[in-house]
Amino acid sequence: MKKILLIGLLAAACRLGATVAAEPRTLLVEVRDIPAAAQGDKGRFAFNDYNRDKLLTLVRHTAMMLATRAEFAALQHDGFHATLVMESPDLLTLYKRGLYGPTSALPACYHRYDQIVARADQLAREHPERIARVQIGETTQFHRPIYAYRISSDARRPQDKPGVLLDACHHSDEIMGAEIVFTLLEKLVLDYGRDPEVTAWVDRCEIYLVPVVNVDGHDIVTSGRDPRWRKNARDVNGDGVTGVFPEGVDVNRGYDFNWAMGGTDQPDSDRYRGEHPFSEAENRAMRRLLELKPFVLSLSYHSQGEVIYYPWSWNGQPAPDDVLIREIAGEVAGHIPTMDGHGTYAISPGGPSSQSYPWLYGRKGDFDFIVETGMGAHIFAAEDRAGIIAANLGGVRALLARTAGPGLAVHVVDAATNRPLAAQVWLPRIENETVDRRSTEATFGHYWRLLRPGKYELIISCPGYRTAVLHNVAVAAGDWTPLEVRLQPEAPVAARP
Ligand SMILES: [Zn+2]
Repeated sequence: MKKILLIGLLAAACRLGATVAAEPRTLLVEVRDIPAAAQGDKGRFAFNDYNRDKLLTLVRHTAMMLATRAEFAALQHDGFHATLVMESPDLLTLYKRGLYGPTSALPACYHRYDQIVARADQLAREHPERIARVQIGETTQFHRPIYAYRISSDARRPQDKPGVLLDACHHSDEIMGAEIVFTLLEKLVLDYGRDPEVTAWVDRCEIYLVPVVNVDGHDIVTSGRDPRWRKNARDVNGDGVTGVFPEGVDVNRGYDFNWAMGGTDQPDSDRYRGEHPFSEAENRAMRRLLELKPFVLSLSYHSQGEVIYYPWSWNGQPAPDDVLIREIAGEVAGHIPTMDGHGTYAISPGGPSSQSYPWLYGRKGDFDFIVETGMGAHIFAAEDRAGIIAANLGGVRALLARTAGPGLAVHVVDAATNRPLAAQVWLPRIENETVDRRSTEATFGHYWRLLRPGKYELIISCPGYRTAVLHNVAVAAGDWTPLEVRLQPEAPVAARP
C-alpha cells in the first residue's frame, strides 16, 4: 500500500517536473569582449572541458554558447556584446556551428587520418632510410590500423639509441595534437641534413610518432559527423549503432596503472574507463609500441589549457623523480608561448591513475608529460592553427635537447659471453615502491636513465647472475655518462647424487 502511494507521488512529481522543465537551449550565441573579471572559475563565463552544455568555447575574450531566449535576453540586458549566430531545435546542428566554425564543418587546414597516413607513406617511400611505418594495432570498433612512425638515422632497422615518443589524440576532438605531431613528422624527415638541430636529434635518438591514437574517434570528428567526440567509437551498449554521443570509452583512462582510481565506471561519462584495464584496442596498441621500444622521454598532446601535466601528485606525495621531472616539465613549458602572447605554458602535477603519463612513468620508466595545447577550445579556428603548432614546436625542441643527457647510459652484458642482458636496474635511494623496477632492453642491453648530476647507488640484477651493487656512481653534467656493467654468471647448482 505504502509502495503504491510512493509510486503515485513519484509519478506526480515527474509530471510536475515535466511542466516546469527548463526551456531547451536552442540558440547559439556569440559574446565578444568578455571582461577578464567575468572569466575563470568564479566568473559568469567559466570554460570547463567537461561541462560544455552551455559554454562551448572561450577564446581570447570571445565565447560561443548555447542559450535559451531568456538567457540571451539576460546577456544583452547585462551589457554583454551578445549576438545571435543561429537558432535550431537540433543540438548537434548548434554544436557543429559552434565548435567547427562558420562552415559547420572541419576547417580545411586540419587533416583527416587518411591524409596524414598518405603523406607519411609518401615520405617513407621517398626516404626509407629516415622514416618507417610500424603498425602497432587496430581500433576497437572499426579495426582501422593504428600507426607509429619511426624516425632515425637508419629507420630501416631498430637502433641502439634512446627512444623518444610523441603521441596525440587519445581524445579525438583534441585534434591540434595530430597537427603538431604530423608537422613534426614532416620537419624531421625533410630537414634532416639541412637543419643542424634536426640532424642532431635524429642522429642522437630514435623518435617514434603516433599522430592519432584514437583513430575511430578522430574520424568521427574530422569527417564532420560530431565535433564533440572525445572517446573511442566502441558500441558500448551493443545495439549496433555507433557514433551517437556520448557512447564510447575514454582511451586516456584505460591504462593499468591505478586503473580503478581513474575515470568512472559510468558508460555515459566523458571519462568512462571501460570494463577492465586495456579493454580498448587503442591502449593495447600503445602497450605493443612500448614492447617494441622503451622511451626515455615523451609528450602526449591534448587540448586545452596551456598547461603541462607531469607525474604526479599521489595523495599529496610527489613522484620519486619529482625534482628532475619538474625541471624537464618547466623547460618544455617555458618554451611554449601562450595564445595571448603574454607568457608561456604552466606546469601542474596530475593524478597517478589510469592515464598515459602515470602508466608510462610508473610502469615503464618513461618521463611522460601531457601537453594541453591552446586555451578555451578543443578545435581551434583555422587562423589559430599555425600559431599553436609553432608554439608547441618550441616545447618539442626543449624536450629533444634533453635526449643529450645528463644521465646514465647503463649497458649490461654477460661477463662470460658479452651477450646483452635484460637486467633490472634499480636506484634504491630514488625509486620507491610506487614505481615498477626499470630494466635494460634485451636486444642491445641498454637503459638510458635521465638523472641530475651527482652520485648514485645502483643495484643491477638478472636471474642466473650475481647481483651487482654499485656505490657512488658519478653522473657528470652535460652528456650521457656511460656505465658498462658485466654480470658474472652464478655457478650452476651441483646436482644432488
Ligand atoms: Zn584530453
